[in-house]
Formats: sequence, structure tokens, C-alpha cells
Amino acid sequence: MLSEFDLIQHYFVTPPSDDPRIQLGIGDDCALLQPSSGMQLAISSDMLVSGRHFFPDADPYLLGHKCLAVNLSDLAAMGAKPVAFTLALALPEANPAWLAPFSAGMLALANEHRCVLIGGDTTKGPLTISITIFGEIPPGKASRRDAAQVGDDIWISGNLGDARLALAHYWHELQLSDDDFALAAMRMHQPVPRIALGLALQGIAHAALDISDGLLGDLGHILKRSGAGASLHVDLLPAGMALRNQPREKQREFTLAGGDDYELCFTAPAELRAQVMAASAASATPVTRVGTIDRELGIRLLDSTGQLLTLPLTSFDHFRTP
Ligand code: ADP
Ligand code: MG
Repeated sequence: MLSEFDLIQHYFVTPPSDDPRIQLGIGDDCALLQPSSGMQLAISSDMLVSGRHFFPDADPYLLGHKCLAVNLSDLAAMGAKPVAFTLALALPEANPAWLAPFSAGMLALANEHRCVLIGGDTTKGPLTISITIFGEIPPGKASRRDAAQVGDDIWISGNLGDARLALAHYWHELQLSDDDFALAAMRMHQPVPRIALGLALQGIAHAALDISDGLLGDLGHILKRSGAGASLHVDLLPAGMALRNQPREKQREFTLAGGDDYELCFTAPAELRAQVMAASAASATPVTRVGTIDRELGIRLLDSTGQLLTLPLTSFDHFRTP
């Protein structure tokens, strides 16, 4: 049986970082971070609980990836550059067959983004994975939820709804073809944090967030904090590759009120459309303009003819669903 010390040593200690901001990593009572001169720290935590955010038998490599990806996605939404993260882990057992791929999946993504694991905590308990991530951003450059302005365009990165479509298949709400299921499952298990786009939008985007609980609900957070409303062109919403093969009603439902998308929703002044497209090209991340920020509160859903739609949709809420 692995001791707690061995477990940390084997699976989470990486060679000392050559990053000057990481003054001290795993092994002491605290890690020591030295932010680059003049930069602000952007800090975020996300907790994933077995049976709630992932299936108890989830592939551990993909799970390791996803836990870090959802945290990186928060940095992307703010326009921050990843620096380091801590990992608090409750495990039912110290099982090497689970720990090895879990840490490999997590550390592969960490390396890709030069984000260093600098500490954490490990305890026995129901499988729970909690990460706190630290990023850097120049003061005043973060894209905050309260910064949307009337007249701004609303943009979405990538496409929406495929993760929710995979869930519908797992829940037997519908049956996907093998090809569509493969596409949708990849979106569910391997979200791509839009870090490069977030950085490229620094100074261009007004407000931004990452869509984790469905566009309608998440855009609602921006609107509430910014004291504004929005019009959304429902048929311009980019549907996921697998979702495109579903009927229009499904496409509307899952793009508007899916979940687990981890795409960015951001607002930017209409005068900066060319700059938004340049940021999209520079970061090799597609973006689609889907609406505008209005003075009138609430969200108005419009079809391609400009007709107002009423769709009975709500966003995902962990305290409302069984
Ligand atoms: P403490 O007694 O101060 O809580 P621990 O024995 O829990 O210290 O941890 C020892 C070192 O290992 C600390 O530097 C801590 O940050 C790090 N650590 C513990 N668990 C993890 C983990 N899951 N991932 C990364 N580092 C960890
Ligand atoms: Mg501890």
C-alpha cells in the first residue's frame, strides 16, 4: 500500500521548474510564487465530484485532463496567462492503476500550458478533485463579467452543445451513430481551454466568461453584473459537429442550454470586429458573432427572420437537478 508521502512523490512531484516565478514548489508547508513585475494574479478554483461532475468509472487519463482544463478555462475567460496550480485530492484508495493515468493526463495538459503543479493536499475520502489555479494578467486588462456595454457585439468561440449531446446519449435520451458519439464524447471528456484566444482578446473584449452551465444562464451572469440585456440570433449559434446532425429544435436546446462547453462567450465593441477576427486568426480559434448587448434587460431570442422566439429553457444548476 502506498503511503501518502509516496503517493505525492510518485505521481505529483515534477522536476524543479526553471520558471523564475516558481520560487518553491511541492514539499514545504507553502509554495512560493513570485509574480512577474507589475502583473496581477488571477486566481480561480474548481471542484469536480465523482457522480456529480463525472461518472465514477470515468477514464482517469481524460479525467486528469478535464479537471485541469476547466480551471484553465477560467483563466482563459479572464484573459490571464497560466502560471501554476494546486491540487486537493480526496481518494477512496491509493490505487496506482488509477493514479498513474490521472496524473499523466493532468500533467500533460499542465506542460502544454506551462502551468506548474506547486502543491496541494491528499486525503482519503469520496473521489473529489479540487484545483486552484494561478494566472497572470496586466492590471486593468482582465475581461470582467461586469464590463459589457450597450451596443457591444456578443461572440462565441468554437461551437456549442456536443458535450450535452454526449450526455443525452449516456442518459439514453437519444441514440447517436458511432461517429457522432465519438465526436460528442471527445467534446465532453477533453474540453480545450481557450487560453490563446483569451490572451489575444486582451484589450479588445469588454466582458467574457467561459460557458460551463449553458449559454443562456452564463450570458445571464454577464448581463446581471453589467446591468444590461441581450438579443441573441439563435440560428447563428454554432452547433457542435455532432449536434449539426440533429433536428433544429435539439440544436437550439443544446446550444442555448447545454453545459460543459468550455467555450468563451465575450462582448466587444462593434468598431473592433476586425480586431476580434485578427485575435481569432492569431489564436487559430474560430469565433462567431451571435448577438448584441441591449439596454433593455432580459435575453431576447430571435430566429433567422428576426422573429421573437419563446423557448422553455433553463440553465444547468447542480442544486436543482437530481
Ligand atoms: P501538510 O502536512 O502541510 O498538509 P502534506 O503532507 O499534506 O503537508 O503535503 C506535503 C507536500 O506535498 C506539500 O508541499 C503539499 O503542498 C504537497 N501535496 C500534497 N498533496 C498534493 C497533491 N495532491 N498534489 C500536489 N502536491 C501535493
Ligand atoms: Mg496536507
